[in-house]
Amino acid sequence: MAAAEDLTVDEALALVLASVAPLPATRVPIEEALGRVLAEAVVAEDSLPPFANSSMDGYAVRAADVQAARENGPVALRVLGDIAAGTVPEITLQPGTAARIMTGAAMPEGADAVVPVEDTNEPWREPARPLPAEILVGRAVQAGDYVRPIGEDIQAGTRVMEAGHLLRPQEVGVLASLGVGRVLVHRRPRVGLLSTGDELIAVEETLRPGKIRDSNSYAQAAQVMALGAVPIRLGVAADREADVREKLHIGLDEGVDLFVSSAGVSVGAYDVVKAVLEKEGNVGFWRVRMRPGKPLAFGNYQGVTYLGLPGNPVSAMVSFERFVRPAILKLGGHSQLSRPRVKVVFAEEIDSDGRETYVRAVVTHKDDVYVAVSTGSQGSHVLTSMVKANALVIIPEGVKHVAAGSLLEAIMIDWPPAVF
Ligand code: AMP
Ligand code: MG
Repeated sequence: MAAAEDLTVDEALALVLASVAPLPATRVPIEEALGRVLAEAVVAEDSLPPFANSSMDGYAVRAADVQAARENGPVALRVLGDIAAGTVPEITLQPGTAARIMTGAAMPEGADAVVPVEDTNEPWREPARPLPAEILVGRAVQAGDYVRPIGEDIQAGTRVMEAGHLLRPQEVGVLASLGVGRVLVHRRPRVGLLSTGDELIAVEETLRPGKIRDSNSYAQAAQVMALGAVPIRLGVAADREADVREKLHIGLDEGVDLFVSSAGVSVGAYDVVKAVLEKEGNVGFWRVRMRPGKPLAFGNYQGVTYLGLPGNPVSAMVSFERFVRPAILKLGGHSQLSRPRVKVVFAEEIDSDGRETYVRAVVTHKDDVYVAVSTGSQGSHVLTSMVKANALVIIPEGVKHVAAGSLLEAIMIDWPPAVF
């Protein structure tokens, strides 16, 4: 067994992150690309817009023809035709002429501006209004007005996104508009989740004396999914080495990229996870100087990175936040691995034991200041302290007493801050 080491959170995180690398790339339809990270640059093959078009329902004109137009002194133009969106205009404007045009329709030859319908005597409010032979233009427009030129948004040949770019809904939209239906992205991390403990029963079971329901594997599956990764539930292992081993082998067969377990890594008599990892893995047991979440097993099981979290639900969740979340994001190819942080005024007086402490808190924004209030009982088994929280406020290492009104840093686990 590797000797238990005392590490700071930052030291532990650095070691965890050094053990994982972005997963290989795979080409997926853009419908499945949300939240994933590009593994290649995207170069535009087309310009966007692909052709000059009108940004208004109106009349395509030659701006020079309407320079003198005023509301009380309109200019008359002969209407040559109608251009609907999706059609190719066959009209060429001559001096003194116009063409009715719809939003998004291609500009005809000879036109260099659009007069919105509102600025003509033909605001065609009723449907199926016939094309007028002539319109009166009540306002001057300049060349380019209400015209969206070719390539205004994207020029063909431009690198629109680099490898490493996170695909959000707006990126998916840009890819679609460029005709890029499939993209190369990092594979979704597959995370094997194991709960251990003889006291655990499944969610659908009726409580019996001495038993509690396994909440960690459900909460962790949700945490994994929230990161765009795939949870592989390995079930609950009893406090027996053979059972732990058997469940971990299911994970190996499933090709997991990371093992995350909860419980069985502290100094209890039945902490069998420890025993299995010592025999078949390369694992160190750390005491991380944090609260909650002191014990942490880290290493690999048969070559797969292994993070053994403490059993208490809040400890497991906070340890997941600090160590597993960044590791999963890195596997998925992300470069932004940390949550946003803000400076908060902590409203209460609070004591700590000198370890880096994560206080479950509600952060609100009042009068230009972020104010944090703890969510009450901070016991590492009190999972409702997380339900109420939108932030983890950090009491730094070495600080044992925080006076009310002190300035602290908060990790925002939800953003924007709560308004309740
Ligand atoms: P351990 O690390 O095995 O000593 O467990 C610490 C505490 O966490 C004990 O009170 C366990 O009952 C509890 N615990 C362990 N695993 C889970 C789980 N999957 N869901 C809920 N509570 C758990
Ligand atoms: Mg236990």
